[in-house]
Amino acid sequence: TAAPIVLDVNGIEVIYNHVILVLKGVSLQVPEGGIVALLGGNGAGKTTTLRAVSNLLRGERGEVTKGSIELRGERIENLSPAQLVQRGVVQVMEGRHCFAHLTIEENLLTGAYTRSSKGEIAASLEKVYTYFPRLKTRRTSQAAYTSGGEQQMCAIGRALMAQPSLVLLDEPSMGLAPQIVEEVFEIVKDLNARENVTFLLAEQNTSMALRYANYGYIMENGRVVMDGPARELADNEDVKEFYLGMG
Ligand code: ATP
Repeated sequence: TAAPIVLDVNGIEVIYNHVILVLKGVSLQVPEGGIVALLGGNGAGKTTTLRAVSNLLRGERGEVTKGSIELRGERIENLSPAQLVQRGVVQVMEGRHCFAHLTIEENLLTGAYTRSSKGEIAASLEKVYTYFPRLKTRRTSQAAYTSGGEQQMCAIGRALMAQPSLVLLDEPSMGLAPQIVEEVFEIVKDLNARENVTFLLAEQNTSMALRYANYGYIMENGRVVMDGPARELADNEDVKEFYLGMG
């Protein structure tokens, strides 16, 4: 039996600055409990797709002009980012975006801004530390002085503090050494398996993403040009020629 669809993006168009058509009818589905990879080169539209889902386009002067986005059957195009967080949808932005002057622990705690129970927040913090032991050792360090890998872990940990059911993860491998990328993906896999967190992740590192995802969509120039189970994509000759070895 197929898992229910958590996220259903149906034919969306996105325009920046009222004139620049960047997404030209993108459709994708994310099943409950899945790890879905959104692949493609620089400028293909991956970040824009994630931002459309988490309603973070407005700050970029972008808007969804066609199509629909449904979360478990509910239309969400008009919900604010905060309302989406309350429904369990959290985006981890590209470039990690920790608050440089806050400590790792303070950064993590900012992720709990929609929650009020101090005891539950403390329990979540401990849970984040069990997945990211590195963050526990670095808890009192200012984020600015931690490594790129630790900052990426901090960004994911902060998202977890909102108790998400769906995490939109933008380019987690960016700027990280291969070994650290692998460490981050292993944690994503654990969170998916043990905490039942569903992931939609944008990645230029196609080979790494296809090793961890169940399903992938390949974007080019604002469109999905190919999709399929991750294993089939990894074995596909065109994918091998054009995308593997990219990241
Ligand atoms: P990257 O890996 O570089 O983030 P991407 O696949 O995520 O690539 P997007 O960032 O979604 O691609 O960009 C898609 C297209 O939209 C690009 O041509 C980009 O120049 C354009 N674009 C992105 N943000 C804006 C903006 N705020 N205003 C105008 N154009 C934008």
